[in-house]
Amino acid sequence: MPSQPSRLSASSDPPAGGWTSADEQAGVARRLVVVTVVGSGYVGTTTAALLTALGIKTYAVDIDEAKVDKLKDGKAPFYEVGLDNLVAYGIDNNYLVPTSSYEESIPHASIVISAVGTPENADGSPDLRYVYSALESIAQNATGPLIYVQKSTVPVGTGRAIIAKYAELSDKPFSYVSAPEFLREGTAVVDSIEPDRIVVGGDDADSKHIITTIFRDISSRRAEIADIADQPIQNLPEPIAFNMSIESAELTKVTANAFLALKISFANSIAKLADSTNADVAEVMDAVGSDKRIGRAFLNAGRGYGGGCFPKDVKGLISSAKANNVAMDIMTAASNLNDSMPSYIVDRLKDELGELETKKIAILGLAFKAGTSDVRKSPGIKIANLLQQAGSKVSAYDPQAHNEALADLDEGIALLDSAQLAIKNADAIVVATEWPEFKDIDYSQTTAKLLFDAMNLLDSSMIVRNGLEYRGVGRRLKL
Ligand code: NAD
Repeated sequence: MPSQPSRLSASSDPPAGGWTSADEQAGVARRLVVVTVVGSGYVGTTTAALLTALGIKTYAVDIDEAKVDKLKDGKAPFYEVGLDNLVAYGIDNNYLVPTSSYEESIPHASIVISAVGTPENADGSPDLRYVYSALESIAQNATGPLIYVQKSTVPVGTGRAIIAKYAELSDKPFSYVSAPEFLREGTAVVDSIEPDRIVVGGDDADSKHIITTIFRDISSRRAEIADIADQPIQNLPEPIAFNMSIESAELTKVTANAFLALKISFANSIAKLADSTNADVAEVMDAVGSDKRIGRAFLNAGRGYGGGCFPKDVKGLISSAKANNVAMDIMTAASNLNDSMPSYIVDRLKDELGELETKKIAILGLAFKAGTSDVRKSPGIKIANLLQQAGSKVSAYDPQAHNEALADLDEGIALLDSAQLAIKNADAIVVATEWPEFKDIDYSQTTAKLLFDAMNLLDSSMIVRNGLEYRGVGRRLKL
C-alpha cells in the first residue's frame, strides 16, 4: 500500500485553533494546491477552466499542440457555451498554464487529474492506451507525492491496475481517487457548477476529502463562476457527495450512462411500434413519464444516441460484464436497437420518396447533439452518408460542427453556409440535431415537399402550414 502523500496531508491539516468554516478550509486549500489536468478535451478543459475560476493554479497538459496553442490564446479548443470566457479568465489571471510538457507541469503539482480519451477498441472494450501513456509520463516526472484523480471513464477494475502500475514506475507516494465525470457536452459549464452529485472512490479518506472539497467549492462559488462564464444558474440544491470504493465509483459512471442509453432505446422501440400503429410516442411518453417512478427525461424518440460517451460506455459495460462472465443482454439489445435507428430513418425516407437515387436531401444538424461541435458517432453524419451511398445528392448544414464533420462525411456531401441555403433546392429535409435555431428557419423558402424530423423537434403544424409533409419518429401529425 503506498504511503500517504505528506505534502497534501500537511496542506489539509487544520491551522492552530482549527478551521472556522468550510469556506476557510477551501480557501486555504486553493492557495496551497497546484493541479495538473492531463488531457485538454471536453472534460479536461472544462475541469481546468473551473479550477482556475476558483483561483487554483492549474496546468493543462495535452499532447495535441493545436489544443495547447488555442488555450494559450485564451480560447477553448472546441465550441462549448461559456467555456471561452472561463479559459480567457484563467489565462488573463495567470492561473491557467496550457502546455504540452510533462516536465513543466508535473513537478509542481500535488494533484493530477487525468481526463484523457478512452475510445473503444474494435471489440467494444475501452482502449486504455492514453490512460497508461499519460500515467507513465506522470510517473516519470513526479517529484513528490501525488493525488491522482481519474476523471476518464474507465472499466471497473482499472483503478487497481493503475495503482499497481504506478508502484512499478515510481517510488513516490501515490493516492488514487476515482472521480467520474457527469457533465454533458453542450451544457458542460452549467452541469459542472451545479452538478447533481460528486462521486469519489478511493482507499484514502483524506484524499477523497480533499477532492470532494475542491469540487464542492466549485458548486459553492457557482454565482461567481457563472458570472465569469456569462451563464445562468438555476440555484439547484448543493450536490450530494457519494464516498465509495474505487470499484463502485468506476461502475457508477458507466451504469448511469447505460441506464440513460437504455431509456432512449426503449423509447425508440416504442416509437417503431407507434409508427406501425396509430399511436404517437410523445403522447405515450408524456403520460408514462409523468409517473414519478419513471420520469419523463430521456424518453424522447429520435435517430438514437451518439457522441463520445453513450455508445462506448454501453459497449464498455457489456465488455466488462463479459470479462467477468456476467450476461448483459439487456444492454446488447439497447445498443443494437440504437445502431438500427439511422438506417430505419433512411428506410422510412425511401418509403416516402420512392427512390432515393438522385433525390436532393438536406440534412440539418451534424453534431451528435445541440450545443456542441462534437461529431463523434454522430447519427446525423451516419444518415447523411447512408443517403449519399444510396445515390442521393446530400447538402448539409450545422451551426458549429462543419470543421469536425469534414473527416467523417462521405465525399460529395456539400456543406452549406446556412440552413436556408441547404434546404433551398431540396426534395426533402431531415432534421438530425436538436439545434433550437432549426425551429426558426423559414420553411416556406424550399422546394422540398417533405420534412423528416428525426429529432421530433419541430411543431408539425408549422411545417404543414409551410406546405410540406411532416414525418417524425413515432409521431402522428398535429394539425
Ligand atoms: P477528448 O477526446 O475530447 O479529449 C481527450 C484529450 O486527451 C485529447 O485532447 C488528447 O489529445 C488528450 N490526450 C491523449 N493522450 C494524452 C496524453 N498521454 N497526455 C496528454 N493528453 C493526452 O475526450 P473527452 O470527451 O474530454 O473525454 C475524456 C474522458 O472523459 C473519456 O474517458 C470520456 O469517456 C469521459 N467523459 C466524457 C464526457 C463528455 O461529455 N465528453 C463526459 C463524461 C466523461
